[in-house]
Amino acid sequence: MKRRKINYHNHTVFSDGSFIPAVIVAEAYAKGLEAVGISDHCFSGIKLGPNDVPSVESYIGAVDKVRERYGEKIRVAVGMEVAFGSNMAESGIPRRVCDRLDYILFEYVGLYRGFGLRELVAIRRDIGLPVGLAHTDMDLAFPDVEREKLADILEKEDIFVELCPARRNMRVALHPVDGEELYIKPAYRCNIDFYRLVRGRRIGLTIGTDTHDNLSDVADIGDAADFIEELGLWENVLEL
Ligand SMILES: [Zn+2]
Repeated sequence: MKRRKINYHNHTVFSDGSFIPAVIVAEAYAKGLEAVGISDHCFSGIKLGPNDVPSVESYIGAVDKVRERYGEKIRVAVGMEVAFGSNMAESGIPRRVCDRLDYILFEYVGLYRGFGLRELVAIRRDIGLPVGLAHTDMDLAFPDVEREKLADILEKEDIFVELCPARRNMRVALHPVDGEELYIKPAYRCNIDFYRLVRGRRIGLTIGTDTHDNLSDVADIGDAADFIEELGLWENVLEL
């Protein structure tokens, strides 16, 4: 299966990004991406971004307009990124918002006390959209879940996994004594045992660079694409 050029994780001025959606999409198109997704922070009490339904709807409307302008030239998807915590598990995501979205990314799953995979699975079935884990380091988020079991859950519950090559989400190892950086690398490269289990399973993958204030991040998908190639996982890569 051929290599694909996609990036489904980009923020805009609607949350804590520096660019309007049209600028992100123009960059993606200029650099030859096939698909670009806008995924601003929504319903995330601990993050900037729209937390009420009318402002979420104006965000979606703005991305829809850009999509119309580009037509068939590039796939423009509208998603959102939700910091998974008590706010989300209690209130859920309004149906009329879900109906207008292409996907939802959840970040920090497993990193907040009590809000892990089990809680995500509990709300996932009501969402009715592609749902994925944003920039997740499996070793840090799910240290107690056996890798086969993790793959089983993601496959059964239809939760995709984003590979994020951005420096801001890399694993950093510090020297235990002087605190100096020993290495920094993308979490997926640290989680290779998990990704080896993905081949041949119905576990979706995406690439997302978590663009905020650096426009060149939009097309900076190369290492994640190389990793997918190395493990033979293009069959798993989703079109959202
Ligand atoms: Zn993000």
